Amino acid sequence: MRSAGTKITLFWIPSHMPPGIEGNEIADKLAAQESSSPKPSNTISNELSVDEQSTQLKKHLRARYLEELQKGNTKPNLHQRTKTGMHKWHKHKSRRITKILFSLRTGHNRLNGHLARFNSNTSRLCQDCEEEEETTEHALLNCSNKSPEREKIFQYLNKHNIRPELTNLLGLNPTLNSQTQHEITRLLIKYLQKTEFNPEKKQKKH
Ligand SMILES: [Zn+2]
Repeated sequence: MRSAGTKITLFWIPSHMPPGIEGNEIADKLAAQESSSPKPSNTISNELSVDEQSTQLKKHLRARYLEELQKGNTKPNLHQRTKTGMHKWHKHKSRRITKILFSLRTGHNRLNGHLARFNSNTSRLCQDCEEEEETTEHALLNCSNKSPEREKIFQYLNKHNIRPELTNLLGLNPTLNSQTQHEITRLLIKYLQKTEFNPEKKQKKH
């Protein structure tokens, strides 16, 4: 308190002074009240309204849900409600595509940016453009080595005012409607197929 610039003077008042001394009785009374009440009476009330609490909770739950999805666990994705029930976002008739989608979403893939974390001999750089670190984001969004298929994804996002971000590309944005998410996933899979994009089985360059 002193360091914060507050000047403190401490002084002692005998507690059993004869009645009638100004302030002493009031102080005794307040002290008795304070010790007998379950909660301190001078608590500053800053409780949130029900609406505010609800908003906070929803925000928290949404963040947790996205975290879970990104870990690639078994929770079904939002847009997978089909006639046959719920499906995982990365589920595809091709096992190869299923594996790639899963690895893209979790970030545990054989792209250089991830590999270099475990092997110091591996270059972090993208094997296509050799300009930036080869992360999932770079490979899907930023690599200058553009293919026409990837351009189609961008055109679609642009047309629907959707930001070119990984969350939107990988089915992690619950605010997009299911039709939109389906279309983005379809375009992404097409891009993966046409470019034979496979971070799981790439050739090592030396
Ligand atoms: Zn690149």
